[in-house]
Amino acid sequence: MLVNTKEMLTEANRGNFAIPSPDYCNMNMVRAYVEVAEKLGQPALLAYSEAMQSVLSMEDAYELGRYYAEKAKVPVALHIDHGKSVDFIKRAVDLGFTSVMIDASSDCFEENVRKTREIVSYAHLRGIPVEAEIGHVGAGVNYEEETGDASVYTEKDELIRFVELTQIDSVAVSIGTAHGIYKGVPKISFERLIDLKAAVDIPLVLHGGSGSGDENLRRCAELGISKINIFTDLCVAGARAILAEGADNYKQMMTTADRAIADTLEHYYHVFNCDREKKKNV
Ligand SMILES: [Zn+2]
Repeated sequence: MLVNTKEMLTEANRGNFAIPSPDYCNMNMVRAYVEVAEKLGQPALLAYSEAMQSVLSMEDAYELGRYYAEKAKVPVALHIDHGKSVDFIKRAVDLGFTSVMIDASSDCFEENVRKTREIVSYAHLRGIPVEAEIGHVGAGVNYEEETGDASVYTEKDELIRFVELTQIDSVAVSIGTAHGIYKGVPKISFERLIDLKAAVDIPLVLHGGSGSGDENLRRCAELGISKINIFTDLCVAGARAILAEGADNYKQMMTTADRAIADTLEHYYHVFNCDREKKKNV
């Protein structure tokens, strides 16, 4: 069934686990993600990023997501990841996406608040929850440089003000992860996470989960991150499986990649503690 992210993230926030949020750029990924969620009896979050438009249009992305969400036996949300333009996000809400992210984190604080508020008033009127980002999660290739003087970590006081001023439903914080493939080792600040978690009630989101290490990510989930974005690791797993198997025709490449992507996502559901209730009951 197609739902929004409000309830699933509230539950994750309460239960100290995180829901994986993988991006998709074709039908195979959507199908694989929903199949994994159904197999585990867990909710699915399917994310479509504004940057993915060159590969898959937003209209096609919505129709694919809606089709698989409506026939799924578990709750499925269709989320917009990294919406940068206000128009793009409003169009996504109108189309039927059930959750949106406005990312104005590279703007100054005032501009981030202004753009985020504009999206919040538009989306909330239509019953759609909003994620925004404060502090800035940079790109992994620049990781070593970005952690220098130009600290991008989320500041506690700014976070509190940002949440109050914008009335967002969840917030992406910057605690040391980066997008894409790391050049260098991620240095996640758990102290910062504990501080930020104590400062606000709404669910916290972590971007740049790929390549951060299972132990680090599990700890983030346990310490209060409710949604972890994971995409690069899935893409890399798919490509590596194709190469390892020596697949030399398109159909074989697709099935090989789909399986590897599904296995990797399943692994992350376990790492993020999604099955903790089941473990307790065994
Ligand atoms: Zn991100």
